[in-house]
Amino acid sequence: MRILVTGGAGFIGSHLCDRLLAEGHSVIAMDNLITGNTDNIAHLNGRPDFEFIKHDVTKYIYLAGPLHAVIHLASPASPVDFPKIPIPIMKVNSLGTLNALGLALAKGARFLIASTSEVYGDPLVHPQPETYWGNVNPIGPRGVYDEAKRFAEALTMAYNFHHGVETRIVRIFNTYGPRMRLDDGRVVPNYLTQALRGEPLTVYGDGSQTRSFCFVSDEVDGIYRLLMSAEVQPVNIGNPNEFTMLEFAYIVNELTGNRAGVIYKALPVDDPKQRKPDISKARRVLGWEPRIEVREGVTHTIEDFRRRMKARGLLAG
Ligand code: NAD
Ligand code: UDP
Repeated sequence: MRILVTGGAGFIGSHLCDRLLAEGHSVIAMDNLITGNTDNIAHLNGRPDFEFIKHDVTKYIYLAGPLHAVIHLASPASPVDFPKIPIPIMKVNSLGTLNALGLALAKGARFLIASTSEVYGDPLVHPQPETYWGNVNPIGPRGVYDEAKRFAEALTMAYNFHHGVETRIVRIFNTYGPRMRLDDGRVVPNYLTQALRGEPLTVYGDGSQTRSFCFVSDEVDGIYRLLMSAEVQPVNIGNPNEFTMLEFAYIVNELTGNRAGVIYKALPVDDPKQRKPDISKARRVLGWEPRIEVREGVTHTIEDFRRRMKARGLLAG
């Protein structure tokens, strides 16, 4: 298949490009680099089955030739970006999704959108099944992302019902791994860069809020299986192994040998208190479940962070 990956120079997008190429597809990565980086796809330069196009997908997308799938991952994803670039976030998930769906319709291509566990907001049902409609504050600081993703899901379903586009919706839960931006602001990059510098880890609130972390190769495997499946309704892809943010800080300090402990900082407004995917549907429909345990995945990620921090002079040695 010839496949377009929007957001292909991003964290998950670049790993997905690798997987699609390994499966024998040809890939076009399209990205405006607002939060992505061509370093993530530098190893693919010069391959005849790979092309990078710098383009903002909120503008009309033109592509010559046949296209069999559009995977729409373009969107900043870190909560620290929500107050900094709220309108680009809303535009890429609304206008960008519209353009990507329009392209899929014109080419007769399958379409897959990266949605998020944030559509469940601060969930009142735990763990979260796909049937839960969520608890989102539309006007809070996370509303720009959460509501834009909810709109993107609705638009995707409309193109399915109204235009017959073959659509897929993946609800991605917290995913981590090599190539995350060092200064991304999410908990994994924060904890790892702090631990590698021998600094205390910044735990927000009392650290009792929970998240469930999925290693990127598992996430990409779930996305690929969903793309190849016939499932039109949303599917959660995430690792159900749940930790408090304080427990997770202790794991990172243990794995890095950091002795600086933790310090407590204010809890961001509307920070979800708990999050854990119900993955029974992914197991049933896709035969998917995560394989990489958190200690193994964090160890791989530490190696990648250490290498990049040294290369940028952010770490001695
Ligand atoms: P990322 O920031 O590394 O990747 C997003 C990519 O989209 C970046 O390369 C960015 O430059 C690009 N982009 C943004 N706006 C664009 C535009 N207008 N035109 C073209 N490119 C644009 O983030 P990520 O963590 O890899 O997230 C990828 C997708 O997965 C996003 O849609 C995100 O909402 C979703 N997601 C991620 C997580 C996670 O834990 N990483 C969780 C839930 C959902
Ligand atoms: N968090 C933290 N310390 C940090 C960064 C984040 O304790 O340095 C917490 C944050 O409050 C949230 C969790 O870690 O409860 C996950 O935050 P992240 O920004 O990674 O993603 P979210 O799941 O909130 O979108």
